[in-house]
Amino acid sequence: MDEYNIKTVEEGLTKIQFPEFDKISSEAPVFYNPHMELNRDISILALQTFQKQENQDINICDLFGGSGIRGVRYKNEINGVDHVFINDISETANEYERHNVKLNNLEDIEIFQHDASMFLRMHRGEFDVIDIDPFGTPSPFLDSAGYCSRRNSLLCVTATDTSALCGTYKEPCIRKYNAKPYKSEYCHETGIRILAGFVALTLAKYSKSIEVKLSHSTEHYMRLYIEVKKGSKKSDECLKNIGYISHCKHCLYREQNKGLATSTPDICPECGEKLIQAGPLWLGDIQNAEFISKMIEESENKKLNTKEDVLKLLESCRVEAKSPATFYDVHKICKLLKISAPKLDLVFDNLEKEGFEAVKTHFNPLGIKTNAPLKKIKEIIKTLSSSN
Ligand code: SAH
Repeated sequence: MDEYNIKTVEEGLTKIQFPEFDKISSEAPVFYNPHMELNRDISILALQTFQKQENQDINICDLFGGSGIRGVRYKNEINGVDHVFINDISETANEYERHNVKLNNLEDIEIFQHDASMFLRMHRGEFDVIDIDPFGTPSPFLDSAGYCSRRNSLLCVTATDTSALCGTYKEPCIRKYNAKPYKSEYCHETGIRILAGFVALTLAKYSKSIEVKLSHSTEHYMRLYIEVKKGSKKSDECLKNIGYISHCKHCLYREQNKGLATSTPDICPECGEKLIQAGPLWLGDIQNAEFISKMIEESENKKLNTKEDVLKLLESCRVEAKSPATFYDVHKICKLLKISAPKLDLVFDNLEKEGFEAVKTHFNPLGIKTNAPLKKIKEIIKTLSSSN
């Protein structure tokens, strides 16, 4: 450890040290990304909410420890945690994980140096929470998570390969997630749904199913909190939420069709142009309002540096629960119609006045999630724009 200059950071109630680095990169001797603090703060609330829901002490696996910041924070800041298992393939990471456990005077944290999949398989069924927070894609580790996760456990998954999931690069998405992405204005939501769909399909191999409690796309990463259920019947039911989104880039029409081997329409019913398909992906719920409300309540008991942003994000995710699987971008519609953009709030007011549901989305500040048909949305926007 003496060979490096040491940097100290404080997140929540926890102090963490690691070798100083010039640039956030997987090349750093020990990885630490300050932009992920919001992700970790949200994890504290999600895991505490899960622990309370289970009403018993929980064992947590931090599968890609890095500096150990997650595992150490989980033990230090969440009540009702029994043991924390921190794993990392790097010996230097292990050194700092041990150091950071001591720095915070903690007990009942064990440190391991294994490949992630190997580690999970060595401890099958031992964890109430498995946190998968790797570099890039979580895809190669999901089989082991599926095989080893136990009934009613919480699976947390981060993906930083958003360019693949969002469809900037199609091939890597097909390779890693066996799904076709599409880069539309709502591609971040499609990306999260591809990731969730891939988790559901992978877990189904082991007769397990998923219930998404919370998901968010922030900066350059996506994060899912999933409750894992066991049983082949439930798993069959769960897979009924897999399907496809068909999108028209000419008029912005879209529709969704559930079913893994379902037929999807080729031609846009609105304008007659060719539709583009994305999927297979998850068309079930990606937010659970009740779970998120409990996380919001829980924030009152926690010291979190990013609390203001956490609450803004959670509130938005809570409101999005039960909304459609895509959203409209008002500016994109205005560009298509060659008109100036009306005030966003007026579009919401008018949709509601006409009896439709309309909510904002954390995916895009200009996004509208609504059950109104596209024709109606265009009509409202045109009227508002002309009276501007
Ligand atoms: N979760 C950490 C960041 C982890 S970065 C945080 O919140 O800060 C990813 C870590 O995974 C690195 O420390 C790297 O050494 C480790 N790693 C890479 N491949 C691995 C593998 N196959 N099995 C286990 N650990 C691995």
